[in-house]
Amino acid sequence: MFVGVLGVQGAVSEHVRTLTKTMYEMGLDGNVEVVRKGDQIGKLDALIIPGGESSTISRLLDTFELREKIISRAQNGMPVMGTCAGSVLLSSQGDEAVERSETKLLELMDTSVIRNAFGRQRESFECLLDIDGIADSFHAVFIRALELALLPGSNAKVIAEFNGKIVGVEQGDILSFSFHPELTDDIRVHRYFLEKLV
Ligand code: GLN
Repeated sequence: MFVGVLGVQGAVSEHVRTLTKTMYEMGLDGNVEVVRKGDQIGKLDALIIPGGESSTISRLLDTFELREKIISRAQNGMPVMGTCAGSVLLSSQGDEAVERSETKLLELMDTSVIRNAFGRQRESFECLLDIDGIADSFHAVFIRALELALLPGSNAKVIAEFNGKIVGVEQGDILSFSFHPELTDDIRVHRYFLEKLV
């Protein structure tokens, strides 16, 4: 089993560490790969797109010829999880901030996104979150977090909300979270993601 973490920018090593720990605890024999080149995408069984700066990651997806390969694998059923900036990129529609930065989205989920939706006062915060089907009281770390919305006729399902804002969505084998599940020792989100492979 090969699980990739897109490694062009952002919170890469934290996902690698959490995935490695999750595989170990699940007794799975697998490898975690940092993905920086298009030719690595073909062999992956699943991919995580980490947090960071969505406009930068988007540009680097083109520089390293990753964009089309990721889209095609995901459309053909490869599980993908996006966290924070990764969650921005999985969406189909963006707000003004996405447009202003000329960020091209991957358009893999029926969601729209509002970047930095929690405002200056709450640039970073932590809370205990119930995530439907995944975890009760998950210690969630939000950093300049976004808010998600479902597009009309969406096939996506809301699985987590905080203060009336959507912060977790699942659509088939694609998961999107506006917080950072890789920043604590809690592996429940990563375990749920890997269970899609076994
Ligand atoms: N607000 C950032 C963006 O849209 C995401 C922040 C993060 O990944 N922690 O790129």
